[in-house]
Amino acid sequence: MHDTPPLVPDFTSWPSFPFEGDFRVKHLEDPVPVEPPRKGEGSRECTACAAPDDAYIWVGERWRVRAMDRPTGLPMVLILESRSHLDLGDLPNLLAAELGVMTVRLEKAIRSLDGVARVHVNRWGDGSAHLHLWFLARPYGRLQLRGTFLSLWDSILPPISEQQWRENLAMVAAWLAEFGGRPLAEPPRILWQAPSSIGAQVSSSVAASEEDGVGVIEAAEEIPEPEVDEIDQPEVGPSTGGPAGDR
Ligand SMILES: [Zn+2]
Repeated sequence: MHDTPPLVPDFTSWPSFPFEGDFRVKHLEDPVPVEPPRKGEGSRECTACAAPDDAYIWVGERWRVRAMDRPTGLPMVLILESRSHLDLGDLPNLLAAELGVMTVRLEKAIRSLDGVARVHVNRWGDGSAHLHLWFLARPYGRLQLRGTFLSLWDSILPPISEQQWRENLAMVAAWLAEFGGRPLAEPPRILWQAPSSIGAQVSSSVAASEEDGVGVIEAAEEIPEPEVDEIDQPEVGPSTGGPAGDR
């Protein structure tokens, strides 16, 4: 379409833009006439509906909160899901009202963690039809992480410590449980345990759906995703972290 490539937008020179160097804008592909089904649409299984409660850090009657399956670069990355298989615009009034309450509650809980300045709340939904909202904590003082690119930074920064991560999860779960529901994330065991057994606990109690990988960047959803059974689960790549890859 373009004889000359379009100029890169101004945001590539913002302090918060995580990359430097020379950039080119990608070629824009033609739109498809019919979009492929998301997870939980058509014949595709819904990861959220299939996930048991113990894959979450807190569960209530109509809402569940889950974490990534391992620590990521941001101090906290959580996903709020409805139990019902609904998309945002399809929520009945009761759930719509509760979504507001849950959003406020979870934002406050995460913002109360040590070292958290702000909580960004995002909903993309290009990867899964089941309603899920992202909550991304920006570390205090890290002005360079302000704004739009926070989800990218989550995959760039080194992961926070497992100990800190588990403490944070337990705090948030306990906070939510003050209002009802069940906290499922436990604080870290005392450190005389063998590290391997600590790891095992994490993977069992906080394991998010592996299929979702780790990472927030729902922009990754724009990439057509192979059916899960067509590929070997690539596990989570070495640099995958937080909210950069929700599908
Ligand atoms: Zn579902």
